[in-house]
Amino acid sequence: MRFKPKPFREPVSFRCLYCPDCCRGRHIYLTLNDIERISGAGHDPQDFVTFSVEGDKIRFVLAVREWDLGCVFHDPETGKCRVHYANPIICRIYPFMVSRKPLGVDGEMPFEYMGQRLWLYYDESCPGINAEEPETTITPEEIAELGLRFEREFERTDMAGFAELLDTMMGEAFSEEK
Ligand code: SF4
Ligand code: SF4
Repeated sequence: MRFKPKPFREPVSFRCLYCPDCCRGRHIYLTLNDIERISGAGHDPQDFVTFSVEGDKIRFVLAVREWDLGCVFHDPETGKCRVHYANPIICRIYPFMVSRKPLGVDGEMPFEYMGQRLWLYYDESCPGINAEEPETTITPEEIAELGLRFEREFERTDMAGFAELLDTMMGEAFSEEK
């Protein structure tokens, strides 16, 4: 699904409808905290982390299934996420988006949060926004907070940190076996 940005300035009601294509064909960056949290939920990084070379940086990206490009944690039967309580911060932000620059969409305005100037959007093609019988209300503040958290974590995510994380995990697994 392509993100159709619509300015997000007021709280919206939301209920996820588990659309079958939502978790397919996406390029989802992982932070070290994401990798640590998902591993802590019992998943081996070898099964869900892939690498993408971007300029002089290596990025960590959530793995997808070959047959339908669905995320490895997506349940194709129910459309639900198998790591819902540990899922990556990017997945927690979607169907919203946080940008440091305006995207050129009608009605957009900067949103000031914690001294930062941000532009917030939601995906107009997501039917869960303003759906009937909503489960929750999402505010611009909580999305801005997640966006800044992603930015901080992403900046600290690199190969050295990944190697250190794997070392720690292997050390823990070894001491559990003893
Ligand atoms: S498109 Fe929206 S409602 Fe559908 S699964 Fe994704 S987040 Fe949920
Ligand atoms: S981790 Fe969960 S929410 Fe994120 S893309 Fe995969 S299935 Fe979807």
